[in-house]
Amino acid sequence: STYRLSQSRSIVDIAMVNLDWFYNLHVSKCQLKGKVALITGGASGIGKETAKLFAQQGARVVIADIQEEYGQVLANEPDGSSICSYIHCDVTNEPDVKNAVDTTIDRYGKLDIMFNNAGILGAPDRQIAKSDKSNFEKVLSVNLMGNYLGLKHAAWVMIPAGQGSIISTVSITSSNLKGATFTYECSKHAVVALMKSTAIELGKHGIRVNCVSPAIVATPMATEVFEMDEEGAEEVNASCAAFNKRVKLKANDVPQTVMYLASNESKYVNGLNLVVDGAFTALPY
Ligand code: NAD
Repeated sequence: STYRLSQSRSIVDIAMVNLDWFYNLHVSKCQLKGKVALITGGASGIGKETAKLFAQQGARVVIADIQEEYGQVLANEPDGSSICSYIHCDVTNEPDVKNAVDTTIDRYGKLDIMFNNAGILGAPDRQIAKSDKSNFEKVLSVNLMGNYLGLKHAAWVMIPAGQGSIISTVSITSSNLKGATFTYECSKHAVVALMKSTAIELGKHGIRVNCVSPAIVATPMATEVFEMDEEGAEEVNASCAAFNKRVKLKANDVPQTVMYLASNESKYVNGLNLVVDGAFTALPY
C-alpha cells in the first residue's frame, strides 16, 4: 500500500508539473501579458467582450462604465475575477475620467492600454431642420468629448512612461456615410480627426493612437435602439457587395482587432482607422 501511495503521489506530481508547464506555456503566449488596460463602455457589447479577451490574454483590466450592475457582474465572472475590476465613470465628466485613470494607476501601477469605447447612438434625428439640439449635444458629449477626455488623461500618464496604446471605437460611418444619423456620423468622424492629430503629437512620446471601425454588430446598442437582432444586423452587413455568407460579424470579433492594436504586435501602427467590415467601406457608394 506504501508503494501504491508513493506511486499515486508521483502521478499527481507529474500531473502538477504538466499543468504548470501548460499554464506557463499559455501565459507566455498571452499577447497582453503584464499589460494594464482601461476600457470605457466595458460593461456591455464590444467593450465587455474586449475586457474578457484582454483578461484571458494576461492583461489587468479596469472596466469604466455607468452601468454599475453589469460592470460589477463582469468583474466577478470566473474568467475575469482576479484581473478585472469595475469603476463608475461617466465619460462626459472630466473628474470621473481622471479618477478612472488615477484609480487604474493606484491599483496596478501603470496604464498601457486606453480603450475609449463608450458610445451612444442617440435619437433617430433624420431631418436637420426638425432636429433636437439637446440630442446633438448629448451624442457629441459621449462619443466625442468622452474620447477627448479619455485621450487627454491617458496621455497625461503615458507621456512620462514613454509608451502606451490608445484605441477608440468609431464606426464604418466614419469612412462612408451609410444609413446612420448625421449626429452619430459627425461624432464618429470627429473622433477620427482627433485620433489622427493626437497620433502625430503622441507618437513622439512612444504612444500610439488608433481607431477600430466595426460594421453592424448585434450588441445591446443595435438590438435595443434599432430593435435589431443578429439576423437584422446580418442583413445590413449583407448590403455590402463583398458580403461573405459563411462569415458572421460577432461582438467578439472586434476585440481581436482591438487586441492587435493594443499589443506590441502593432508597434509601428499609429494613426490608423482599422475597419472590421468585410469591405463594406471599400465600396465607392
Ligand atoms: P453597447 O450599448 O452594448 O455598449 C456601450 C457601452 O457604453 C454601454 O456599456 C454603456 O453603458 C456605455 N456608456 C454609454 N454612455 C456612457 C457614458 N456617458 N459613460 C460611460 N459609459 C457609457 O454598444 P456597443 O455596440 O458595444 O458600442 C460600443 C462602441 O462601438 C460605441 O462607441 C459604438 O458607437 C461603437 N460601434 C458599435 C457598432 C454596433 O453595430 N454595435 C458598430 C460600430 C461602432
